[in-house]
Amino acid sequence: MEVIFTLSYWASILEPRALWFAGLFAGFTLLGIWLPAKQGQKIFRDEYRTDVFYWFLIPLICLPVYYFLTSIILTLLYGDDGAGLLQLLQQGREPFTNWPLWLQVIAIRLIADLVDYWVHRSLHRSRLWKWHAIHHMPKEVDWLTSARSHPLNTLLELMSSGLVTVLIGFDPAAFAILVPFTLIYGAMVHSNVSWDFGPLRYVFASPRFHRWHHTSLELGGDKNYASVFAFIDLIFGTFYLPKDDRPDNHPFGIAESIPENSFLKQTLWPFRQR
Ligand SMILES: [Zn+2]
Ligand SMILES: [Zn+2]
Repeated sequence: MEVIFTLSYWASILEPRALWFAGLFAGFTLLGIWLPAKQGQKIFRDEYRTDVFYWFLIPLICLPVYYFLTSIILTLLYGDDGAGLLQLLQQGREPFTNWPLWLQVIAIRLIADLVDYWVHRSLHRSRLWKWHAIHHMPKEVDWLTSARSHPLNTLLELMSSGLVTVLIGFDPAAFAILVPFTLIYGAMVHSNVSWDFGPLRYVFASPRFHRWHHTSLELGGDKNYASVFAFIDLIFGTFYLPKDDRPDNHPFGIAESIPENSFLKQTLWPFRQR
């Protein structure tokens, strides 16, 4: 545990984060100019600086807590060998780690998406909303909005879909592939890009699919909960992608007034709500 208090540990989180920031900024800024969902949206929109804080601070706050809690739970459940739950249950049979890597990657993402779907839907439809509201407050949405999440919202997601897939037990190489994929995919679905993926729109979440989720409750604000696999919303009756309308014809944001331009005030806001 003491490893997390060393400078090299913080650097191991911040350095790749800075590189990803540069790459995603360049890629999605160019795509936003070439194929904009919303014409004329500023690159350095309001609250851009606050979102940069979220980009770098949320992993610094949440990842050490997640690794710490996960290591405690794994040790309590399995002792020090760290074998996965289903691997233990399947003793004598082939564990998932013997599956081809690509199949493990799809399996992890599918299981994580199912868990994420219900966590996300619960965040919207219960008293947990105040912890998720911050993600929905921006009136302008682009790739960097993917970073805007309350630390407890992020921890809840990590401790649900992250923990479930770790407990099941897959090859660590499959998780390593999914880290950049999830980062890029989350940025992509928020980006100011007009993609809807044509016939694949029912299978995969697109920018248009997720940008609807940032509109009002009467439109897509209570729909489109899936992170990657849009067909999960189809199965559970929350898919929203009208053919003759676009999310960017409507305002983004929420009714609650949450302080703007302050990471600290926004992080404290849910604690003050009753
Ligand atoms: Zn949401
Ligand atoms: Zn979002």
